[in-house]
Amino acid sequence: MSRPRALSTAAVRAGVGRDAQFGSVMPPLHLSVNYTFEAFGRRRQYDYSRTANPTRDQLADALASLEGGAGATLTNTGMSAVSLVLQLLRPGDLLVAPHDCYGGTHRLISALANKNHFEAVFVDQNDPSALDAALARGPRLLWIETPSNPLLRIVDIECLAAAARARGALVAVDNTFLSPILQNPIALGADLVVHSTTKYINGHSDALGGAVVARDAALAENLAWWANCTGVTAAAFDSYLTMRGLRTLPARMRAHERNAAAVARYLQKHPGVAHVYYPGLPDHPGHAIARRQQRGFGAMIGFEIAADYDMERFVNSLQLFSLAESLGGVESLVAHPATMTHASMAPAARARAGISNRLLRLSIGVEDLRDLRGDLRRAFALAAPPMDIIKKQSLQELADIEAEK
Ligand SMILES: *Cc1c(COP(=O)(O)O)cnc(C)c1O
Repeated sequence: MSRPRALSTAAVRAGVGRDAQFGSVMPPLHLSVNYTFEAFGRRRQYDYSRTANPTRDQLADALASLEGGAGATLTNTGMSAVSLVLQLLRPGDLLVAPHDCYGGTHRLISALANKNHFEAVFVDQNDPSALDAALARGPRLLWIETPSNPLLRIVDIECLAAAARARGALVAVDNTFLSPILQNPIALGADLVVHSTTKYINGHSDALGGAVVARDAALAENLAWWANCTGVTAAAFDSYLTMRGLRTLPARMRAHERNAAAVARYLQKHPGVAHVYYPGLPDHPGHAIARRQQRGFGAMIGFEIAADYDMERFVNSLQLFSLAESLGGVESLVAHPATMTHASMAPAARARAGISNRLLRLSIGVEDLRDLRGDLRRAFALAAPPMDIIKKQSLQELADIEAEK
């Protein structure tokens, strides 16, 4: 048997050279909504694109193989992928979710629970007694998101999945922040892996999409049934763009991560920063678990700007970090979670999740590292407390600039 392909090879080669009609190297884009029957009663492989489409299937196969699952369902957004998984719950079923999950996921779970679609509890999954108490109630589904957004908290997937499965719960992991290149939850015991492909997988901030990868074929089939039934399946053109992005995902993740590790170290030493949240830093509380269950630390960084720095001035002075929602594209971004990504969370829930008003989140892109660091340095200098400005540009700063030349 030939050796299993490395992820980078699998991503590049997915579907290449399979076109029997013209021998096109790259697989064609199938936009047609419908497909003819061969004859009366003789259906071909495809009939209607809401149900199934060759371009979408191609991306689904590639993602299922990168995640090590039996099958994947592609949806039109990450939120519809989350919502598809929630279709598995009935009234009375309990869902245990992290207190600091993605803002949109928090809103959807809360809104459906308020209408009695199911019961939900949000817990700090790093608090063993809170987690045990929730699992003791016999949930149908445990939702995990690691690293979490925006504080990059890490939970031990293998340990949580084993505890949940022992009680008969399904385990779903939102793997958006790392992509299948840096973490494979199914290998760690999860039943379902959820992605907002809008982020790293597409990676170019020009197509929305979501995916649910299932460990076993029956679960994959059930999800495909619901996706067709509710009509949330991904568009062919978006699937095509996302497939194009996926081919360079392994290479992009390496470039993202190299930049992020260096930016995290830079921030940690800067007087304008009160705290850095990055799992790659040895003092991050989840560092040891991240080392074990991930193949890299990713490229999302949270940090608290120091109390004497002008946060608005800092954000407005950045030129290479665009002030925008989302993450995972080739371009670097800055966001203020409290007023942007997590604005839909109630202030009390936000406080419980540890999201302060001085917290900023960076999505580190693949630009040149020196340019990114230079942009941060300039914005910090402009936002520094008045009497510090001269100090800032003195010895250490000049030494840094010199060292990078
Ligand atoms: C963005 C995001 C989602 C939602 O995805 P959309 O494509 O925006 O609908 C879900 N989970 C996480 C972790 C995300 O970052």
